[in-house]
Amino acid sequence: MSKSKKAKLRSPSGMHDILPRDQKYYRIVYKAAKSIADFYRFGQINTPIVEDLELFSKGTGESTDIVQKQMFVLKSRGGKNLALRPEGTPSIVRSYLEHGMSSYPQPVKLWYFGSYFRYERPQAGRFRQFRQLGFEVLGDQGAAIDAQIIQIFHSVLESMKLEDLVIEINSIGDYQCRPYYKKLLVNYFRSRQSSLCSDCRRRLKQNPLRILDCKEEKCQRIIKSAPQIIDHLCKDCHDHFKEVLEFLDDLGLPYHLNPYLVRGLDYYTKTVFEIFQLEKQKEDSEKTVRNALAGGGRYDNLAKVLGGKEVPACGGAMGVERIIEIIKNSKFSVKKAKKPKVFLAQLGKRAKRLSLKLMEDFRKDNVFVAQVLTKDSLKSQLKAADRLGVKYALILGQKEVIEGEILVRNMKTGKQKTVKINRIVKTIKKKI
Ligand code: AMP
Repeated sequence: MSKSKKAKLRSPSGMHDILPRDQKYYRIVYKAAKSIADFYRFGQINTPIVEDLELFSKGTGESTDIVQKQMFVLKSRGGKNLALRPEGTPSIVRSYLEHGMSSYPQPVKLWYFGSYFRYERPQAGRFRQFRQLGFEVLGDQGAAIDAQIIQIFHSVLESMKLEDLVIEINSIGDYQCRPYYKKLLVNYFRSRQSSLCSDCRRRLKQNPLRILDCKEEKCQRIIKSAPQIIDHLCKDCHDHFKEVLEFLDDLGLPYHLNPYLVRGLDYYTKTVFEIFQLEKQKEDSEKTVRNALAGGGRYDNLAKVLGGKEVPACGGAMGVERIIEIIKNSKFSVKKAKKPKVFLAQLGKRAKRLSLKLMEDFRKDNVFVAQVLTKDSLKSQLKAADRLGVKYALILGQKEVIEGEILVRNMKTGKQKTVKINRIVKTIKKKI
């Protein structure tokens, strides 16, 4: 369609078609995750795209940006409040509780790949429908799990040849030590309230930890001298964090302690992490926004918040489109689509009809054959065969149909040979 005659109906803002030419990138990411998931024995899970709104308002947290500003909310005909899922973790925990997975051998390891929805201002790397893949381990409180989750995300990225990765990590404590730290933080920011941005003034009342990851310059200046949670962790959280870092050291993973990383969701306890790709120094580097590729952490209280018993757990999610953007611009070699080696040309109505059946015979025997049903002349069909670079063209004309035969033409030499139709699949299989 010419540009001047653009279609009136377009996909919703921030939501995109994935055209055939881009499907291969999604397959690459899916395969990379699946192979690592299989190795570490994670079971794949699909949860509904729509959940009860309450799952996210309770789980993700009433005061979070996701719930306050970014959810697509809808009402069912029965009057239920539903939401398009903005993230995966609450659904996983809901499913764990709903299906009594606490009676399975623990820990339960699950992974997923699917669409998520957030009402954001669309921009580079930020969409309203995007895909995430996630790994979650439920039923284990050990620090080794936190390290393994981080390592798994790192491995998925590395297996797709992503370079210059850096893991940012922090501990945000738990219900023993965080309340006291929150008080310290509120006291610190309250006396500087007038210098904070309007969002942070709101956060001060609802979610003071979130101020720590505000990107506004005027807030940044104040944040720099704010008390850091790492100095106020209780013994349990402190020891856990130390152990996670020791595991990461043993694994040789490149991490960086970031005392301002809080992740903004209510359910995190102890470890939080994000994985970035280091930006190459650009002239306008001050303006470049660093988008995280993956993020997650430990959430030991989420199951309880959702009405279950306490289930210690840790996990995270990775943004598929952000990875694809990097792969597209990298030296990662994307396998070319399989090319057909055979072309089936047909002349006349009866031959066309028989060719449909013949195509099915080839498919059932796993022989990749191309055909162009819209072209009727032999010349144009052979031209198409030539363009595809096939080795053999099979020609089925009126005469051949009557005699139960088919012509096999070697496209390089131009030599032709007649073969019985009922033997053609076998003959071709031998030749290619
Ligand atoms: P989050 O839990 O918000 O940190 O999301 C996990 C990952 O999903 C991020 O690190 C991003 O790679 C990706 N992601 C989050 N929001 C979006 C979005 N609106 N568009 C594209 N990718 C996103």
